[in-house]
Amino acid sequence: MTETTDLYIDGEWVSAESGDTFAVENPADTTETVAEYAKGSTEDAERAIAAAADAQADWEAMPAPDRGSILRETAKLLEEQKDELTEQLSHEEGKTLSEASPEVQRAIDIFYYYAEKAADNAGNRKGASGGRTSVYTKREALGVAGLVTPWNYPIAIPAWKIAPALATGNTVVIKPASNAPGPAASIVEALEEAGLPDGVINFVPGSGSDVGGTLTSHEDVDAVSFTGSSEVGHHVYDAATDNMARAQAEMGGKNPAIITDSADVDEAVDIVGAGAFGVTGQACTACSRAIVHTDVYDEFVEGIVEYAESIDIGDGRDDLGMGPHVSQGELESTLEYVDVAANEGATHETGGERLEGDEYDDGYYVSPAVFSDVERDMRIFQEEVFGPVLAVTEVDDFDDAIEAANDSQFGLSSSVVTTDLNEAHEFIERTEAGVAKVNEKTTGLELHVPFGGVKDSSTNTYREQGDAGLDFFTEIKTVYLNT
Ligand code: NAP
Ligand code: MG
Repeated sequence: MTETTDLYIDGEWVSAESGDTFAVENPADTTETVAEYAKGSTEDAERAIAAAADAQADWEAMPAPDRGSILRETAKLLEEQKDELTEQLSHEEGKTLSEASPEVQRAIDIFYYYAEKAADNAGNRKGASGGRTSVYTKREALGVAGLVTPWNYPIAIPAWKIAPALATGNTVVIKPASNAPGPAASIVEALEEAGLPDGVINFVPGSGSDVGGTLTSHEDVDAVSFTGSSEVGHHVYDAATDNMARAQAEMGGKNPAIITDSADVDEAVDIVGAGAFGVTGQACTACSRAIVHTDVYDEFVEGIVEYAESIDIGDGRDDLGMGPHVSQGELESTLEYVDVAANEGATHETGGERLEGDEYDDGYYVSPAVFSDVERDMRIFQEEVFGPVLAVTEVDDFDDAIEAANDSQFGLSSSVVTTDLNEAHEFIERTEAGVAKVNEKTTGLELHVPFGGVKDSSTNTYREQGDAGLDFFTEIKTVYLNT
C-alpha cells in the first residue's frame, strides 16, 4: 500500500480537514501509483496562512546567520538524499535520471547559496545631510509568502522560491503542482529536520483553484510568487495585486534559436536539439522555434531530423535519451499541436507519434517532432506546445531572423548560433527576451543571476534567483538617524 504524505501545517503533518487524498501516477507506467497526498482545501490553506502569520515576527527576529544555518543544514540533508530525491523526481515527473540529478543538485546548491545570502542581506549607507549621523536603507521581510509552483521542475522551482523567502525572514505556504508534489514535500521534510521553527514553512498540496486560489487572494498573504502557465499566471497576478500583495508570475515561452549563415551547423544542431528535446520539451525555456538562414537551412533540417530520430525513449528511470510526458493532458496537447501544424501546411519531417507496443503502452510517450517550412502566422510558430516539437522557419537574412524571433507574445529565453561577433552583439541588443544566449541552448540557467522574461512570459515586476530573489521577498526601510 502507498503511504499518504500529509499536509504540513504549523510544524505538524496532518490530514486534510476533509480527509481527502489524491494519487500521483507514474507517467512511464500509469498502472502504477507512485504516491498519495492529502488533498488540501481552502480551509487547510487558511489554517496554513494563519500559522505562517503567527510564526513570522519571531522568524524574522532570529539573527540572519542563524536562519542561514538552518538553510545550510537543509542543503546538507538534501545532499545526503540526492539519489533518492533523483529517483523520486523521475518517478513522479518522468524526466530521465540524467536530467533529474542535476535538477536535484541545483536545489541543493540554491539552499547553500541563500544560506550565505541570509547574513548578506543588507541595505545601502549614504552620506548624511545636515547634522544627521547617517541616512541608510535596510531590507525587511514582506511577511507571509504564498508560493505556487509547476510540475516541470518540481524541486528546483520550489527551492528557488522557498530559500530566498526564508533567508530574508518571510514565512511560507507552498502549494506544489498536483502532478509531482513529492520533491517539494522532501524539501519541507529536510527543513523540519534542520530545525526550522513551527509555522515557518507550511505545505498544502491540493487543487489549483482551491488552495492556489486561496493563497493568491488571501489578505494575510503579503507576497505571491507563481510559476506556471500564462493563463493561470494572469489570473493569479490580478488576484494578488488586488490585495496589494507583492506579486510575480513567471509563465510560458516560445523560445527561438537563430541560426545564422556563419554558424557551424553541427554545433547548431546540438544546441537546438538539446534545447528542444531535453526534458521532453517540457521546459519554459525549451527551444521551440529554430529560425534558420537560407544558406544553411537544408543542412540544418537534415541534421536536426537525424538528431530527433536518434533519441532513445523510455522510462525516465531507465535513463535513456528522453522520458514520457508528465500526464495524459500534456500528451494529448502535444499530439493536438502535431495535427494543427500538419493541417496548417507545415512540412512534417519526423516524429510526433504516440509510441505503442510493449513498455510504451502504459506510458505517455511521444517521439520528438520536427516541422519545417513553418510560417510566422502559424499556431505552431506562435503558441507554446510544452512538448518535444520544434518548428523550423527559413529566413533570408539576419534582420529577418531577428524580426521573426521577436514576432511572439512571449519573451523568455532566446539564443543565436553564430561565429560573427557583430551578429552576436546585434542579437543581444535587439532580442526581446529576458535571457539572451550566444552559442548556447535556450535552456539551462545559473542560480546566482536573475531569471525572468518580458512580454507575456513574466510580470514586469521582479526577477527570480540571485540577488533578485532577495529583492522580491523584501521591502526597503529608509532610516534617518540623528544621534
Ligand atoms: P499551470 O497549470 O499554470 O499550474 C501551475 C501551478 O498553478 C500549479 O501548482 C497549479 O495547481 C496551480 N494553479 C492552477 N490553477 C490555479 C488557480 N486558479 N489559482 C492558483 N493556482 C492555480 O502550469 P503547469 O502545467 O504546472 O506548468 C507548465 C507551465 O509552466 C508552462 O506554461 C511553462 O512554460 C510554465 N513554466 C514557466 C517557468 C518560468 O520560470 N517562466 C518555469 C517552468 C514552467 P495544479 O497542479 O493543482 O493544477
Ligand atoms: Mg497545466
